[in-house]
Amino acid sequence: MVKVVIVGAGQGGATVLRRLMQSNWVEVTGVIDQDPNAEGIRIAREVGVPCYIEDPIKVLEKVKADLVFELTGDPQIGANLSNLPQRTFDVASGQVTYLLWDVIRDLEVQEASIRKRLGEQKILSEISLMLSKSETSDQIFEAIVTGAMRMTEMPAGSLSIYNSEQEELFLVSAKGFSSNFYRNAVYPVRQGGLAEYILARHELVLIPDISKHPTFNNPVMVKEGICSLIAVPLFSERGPVGILYVDDFKVRGFSPSILDSMTVLGTQAVIAIQKQQVFEKIKSLSIRDPLTGVYNRRYLNETLVAELGKASRLHSPLSILMIDIDHFKTVNDRFGHLVGDQALQDLAKLFESVIRPYDTLTRFGGEEFLIVMTNTEESDAMAVAERIRETVASSRILPAKAVLTCSIGIGTFKANEKSLLSQEGIISRADKALYRAKSEGRNRTCS
Ligand code: GH3
Ligand code: MG
Ligand code: MG
Repeated sequence: MVKVVIVGAGQGGATVLRRLMQSNWVEVTGVIDQDPNAEGIRIAREVGVPCYIEDPIKVLEKVKADLVFELTGDPQIGANLSNLPQRTFDVASGQVTYLLWDVIRDLEVQEASIRKRLGEQKILSEISLMLSKSETSDQIFEAIVTGAMRMTEMPAGSLSIYNSEQEELFLVSAKGFSSNFYRNAVYPVRQGGLAEYILARHELVLIPDISKHPTFNNPVMVKEGICSLIAVPLFSERGPVGILYVDDFKVRGFSPSILDSMTVLGTQAVIAIQKQQVFEKIKSLSIRDPLTGVYNRRYLNETLVAELGKASRLHSPLSILMIDIDHFKTVNDRFGHLVGDQALQDLAKLFESVIRPYDTLTRFGGEEFLIVMTNTEESDAMAVAERIRETVASSRILPAKAVLTCSIGIGTFKANEKSLLSQEGIISRADKALYRAKSEGRNRTCS
């Protein structure tokens, strides 16, 4: 190990000392200064390097050194050290040490920026891991927003998805704002506004001080107290996907590497959002009936089993309506299959408009529909069924003023039933009731 003594523990000495302490081929055997409060002396004390508030010549008589850095800036001291008879150490002084100090300082700046960049890279890879683990759209949206906030060290952020048909953005995730912010869930791309600017330019926008861009400052942002922001446009090859914002409530600067890191994050976000959109589409295809768009039987199976279990646990009633269109064969025979198809689509819409939002409408078979109504007793189910039946009978779904009717069977799991009812069990109850409705003359409801 090379033994080094530093003479002069001001800013230069302190910088050199910090640097040398990181080196594993150097041992700092002493730091010397006249001022006991010099920065380098303070650092030396903290880390246990011997320090001396004495004449350097005296110190070097007792302290072992191979190399002395003279950083006092006083040429006399450097000369005195070099002129020592029988000296065993080399002396670096004057211009050499300034150069050294400069190089070291540059290295430190570079190192800090590399460390920052590495930190950002680490966050980026964590975000991509989070994204790959997210299952629902909400989880993905949230991972994008929180990831962007962490990376930029900013206290708020939001993600909006672009709807190209309506030319509007809708807010899907936001963090760090008041609850008022969320009320503005859908907003049009305003002419001359920030969103339009970002979407038109396709490039990331850094705004250290929004007051310098009065046209961008919309009322919502003013109210929230947003002073600076980064906006990342999210684009796929097919066009805009959305905008990711990170915001701060104070004016601020940005690190030079943030542009690159946020661009990478934006790309990751686009991929994750698009993957999720495709996934949701496939999922929706697999649980929906292609003709009417209502849920299919596969979805019914899942829902009904789960809901029956819940009803049994919570001792709450559950009813299902089995709807069968009367003489539908005749409809096909008389008007053709296409009109029959259209009638089924219209019927599905009609059912949807009568039931409550939390009831589940499914297509059970050809011209049979099944509605699952949680927390619904038989009498309430009867009321809904009658409304459906009357609405169908009075509707003008078929051409030539032809009348279309339906028969409905109700199956109920009662709140006071002791044992769990199977899916087949409740369907069989509804089926039997439907059979009665048909045999008693159709266009009626039985339970
Ligand atoms: P009922 O009053 O006894 O229910 O008489 P129905 O004619 O409705 O009963 P049936 O079960 O004999 O006939 C059902 C008809 O529904 C036969 C079938 O062609 C028609 N159907 C089933 N699915 C579709 C469909 O997707 N499109 C069309 N157009 N018709 C369908
Ligand atoms: Mg039928
Ligand atoms: Mg029928």
